[in-house]
Amino acid sequence: MEWITRSGLVIGTFPPLKAIAPGLEVFITTRPGGASAPPFESLNLGGTLGDRHETIERNRKLLLAALGISPRRLARTGQIHGSEIAVVTRGGHYEGFDALATAKRGLSLAISTADCYSVVIYSPPEHALAALHVGRRGAELGIVGRTVGVMRKRYRIDPAYAVAVIGPGICGKCYSVSRDDALRFPKAFRRFERGAWHLDLAALIERELALQGLKKRNIFSSGLCTACNPELFFSHRRDRGITGRHWTLASMRPAGE
Ligand SMILES: [Zn+2]
Repeated sequence: MEWITRSGLVIGTFPPLKAIAPGLEVFITTRPGGASAPPFESLNLGGTLGDRHETIERNRKLLLAALGISPRRLARTGQIHGSEIAVVTRGGHYEGFDALATAKRGLSLAISTADCYSVVIYSPPEHALAALHVGRRGAELGIVGRTVGVMRKRYRIDPAYAVAVIGPGICGKCYSVSRDDALRFPKAFRRFERGAWHLDLAALIERELALQGLKKRNIFSSGLCTACNPELFFSHRRDRGITGRHWTLASMRPAGE
C-alpha cells in the first residue's frame, strides 16, 4: 500500500493495480483531515454512536470531493454481519447486505469498518466488481466464497484472472475471541496465547480467496492492523465501541477513461 494526500486526507492506495487492473481504483481512508471531534477524530465516515450526523456527512462530502467520486454513483451497505450480497447497478444505501456486486462502469462501492476487514474483488475482463465486509460472523457464514460464487454466476468471471484487495483490520495478536468462537475455525487460523484465544481473520480471508481460485500474486493486503495503529485507524475493540468508521472505496472508472 502507498499513501497519497488529497485535500488534507491521507489515503491508502495500491499502485500495482494500475498495471493489472487499470479499470479499478481502491482507496483506504484514515483518520486525519476530517471534521469530527474526539473520540471520533477526525475523518469519521460512519457509526452512529455519538458523533454528529451532520459532521459525518461533512466528512463524507470532503472525501468524495477529494477523490472526484459523485455521491450519486456511490453504493453503500447497511452491514449486519450477515452474508447477503446485493447486485447493484446504481448508487444508494443497501440495507441488510454485507456485500455489493456490480458490473456498472463509473460506480463506486464503499465498505465501512473499524476492525472488521473489507475485501474488494475485481475481474478485469468483465469489469465485474464486488466489495464486502468480513468480520468473524461473515467469515463463518462464508461470505467470501459466496461473493465469488455470485460473480461467477452473474458475470461469468474466472477467478484466476481476478484481483483482490484486503483492507486494514484487527490483527491475529489483537483479536481475542471466546474459546467457542475460536473452535469454529480451522486450526491454522486460531491460536491460544497470553491466556486467550485469538483469530487471524486476514489469513483466513486470504486462504478463502485462494480456495476460490484467485492467484496468490493477485491478492493484495494492506497488512495493517486497525487496533495497532491508533493514529491511522478507528478500532471497535481498542476504543471499546466508542469510535468512528473508515471506508474502503472501490471505484470503477467510467468507460473511455
Ligand atoms: Zn494488532
